[in-house]
Amino acid sequence: MVLKTFGYKIKLFFQFMKFAFRYWKTLGSLEQTKLQKKEITSKPVKDKYDLIIIGCGPAGLAAGIYAARQRLDFCVISKDIGGQTKINTYPIENYLGYHYITGVELEQKFEEHFRSFDIEVKYETVNKIEAGKEGFNVLTDSSTYFSKALIIATGRVNKTLNIPGELDYIGRGVSFCAHCDAPLFKDKVVAVIGGGRSGLDAASQLVNIASKVYLIEIADEIKQLGPSTDFVRNHPKVEILTKTKTLEIFGDQIVKGIRISQDGKERKISVDGVFINVGYKPSTDFVKGLLKLNDRDEIVIDKNNHTSVSGIFAAGDCTDISEKQVIVAAGEGAKAFIAASEYLTKLKSKKKEIIKTV
Ligand SMILES: Cc1cc2nc3c(=O)[nH]c(=O)nc-3n(C[C@H](O)[C@H](O)[C@H](O)COP(=O)(O)OP(=O)(O)OC[C@H]3O[C@@H](n4cnc5c(N)ncnc54)[C@H](O)[C@@H]3O)c2cc1C
Repeated sequence: MVLKTFGYKIKLFFQFMKFAFRYWKTLGSLEQTKLQKKEITSKPVKDKYDLIIIGCGPAGLAAGIYAARQRLDFCVISKDIGGQTKINTYPIENYLGYHYITGVELEQKFEEHFRSFDIEVKYETVNKIEAGKEGFNVLTDSSTYFSKALIIATGRVNKTLNIPGELDYIGRGVSFCAHCDAPLFKDKVVAVIGGGRSGLDAASQLVNIASKVYLIEIADEIKQLGPSTDFVRNHPKVEILTKTKTLEIFGDQIVKGIRISQDGKERKISVDGVFINVGYKPSTDFVKGLLKLNDRDEIVIDKNNHTSVSGIFAAGDCTDISEKQVIVAAGEGAKAFIAASEYLTKLKSKKKEIIKTV
């Protein structure tokens, strides 16, 4: 009986200790949470800036480096860093300072330079911009920010065919840019897919380099679209295939050919390169109705990167500049920053004037 009572007391003691330990642990973690909260809340969440740069391809990167060097109150909002250069595995032979460098390597150099400054980057997608009296609200997928001035450098995305092999062979025979990659196809057979303006331009560049150019168009005919139309139509190296749909790009390590359907009949053509020119889409949906766009949805800018709204500047492939190239986009980013900086200086001096007169 005595032993039984003693055993019961011991059991009670251990149960109490277990409970006390759990209580102490809970208290501990509560304290920790409080501390963490304190740490988080003591860090101010910044959402107002003098300048916000939207997009971080070559244009946004260049603007960001200029802004950082001027110690401006700014941030960059972008889906990623690098933009189109990041997906370009081909060599870029037309960027100053490098005889031969792939897009991916060049992007790494850009990023290294950019990250050597303490630049605040928010990895978010901008969905809308609202213009107000004092500046602009930038609405992203997760927050809203305010800025006195904006630089839009959101570039563009190439439209794709959505056929097997297309994405697999980018950098191994498939290209979206004849300006950039035509020299790699010297004396080779290539296919240009898309007989619109950019397809015709691509074909007219490629005839000087390749041994044969197939121009493939889904419609019944190649429309008359300026001087390159007749040049391409009559060129002995060009074979035009209308009413033709491209079904597949095939190969092994590199492109070997395409499978097409012409008038309902399928066949294969051997080619070394495929230039896809079915258009591109500037990433400008979020400024529709706010900024003046041209018929291709590109932001209309003047020679100093001003858009149709005072305080908003734009640079690179999202604008109506005719050349869509890395070197051009980087230069345009720098120009847009200089214009935005001048705007902010004027804004400050105007405010001072107002303060003085009051
Ligand atoms: C396969 C390929 C090969 C090429 N080869 C060459 C070449 O050899 N030589 C050459 O000079 N050029 C080449 N180009 C073209 C060159 O890459 C572009 O001209 C250049 O990248 C344009 O820079 P950008 O900064 O204007 O835009 P992009 O590079 O398109 O960058 C736009 C940025 O904006 C971001 N963004 C877009 N929309 C939003 C949004 N709503 N919210 C937040 N962020 C957004 C994107 O994530 C990206 O970071 C090539 C392009 C491709 C695709």
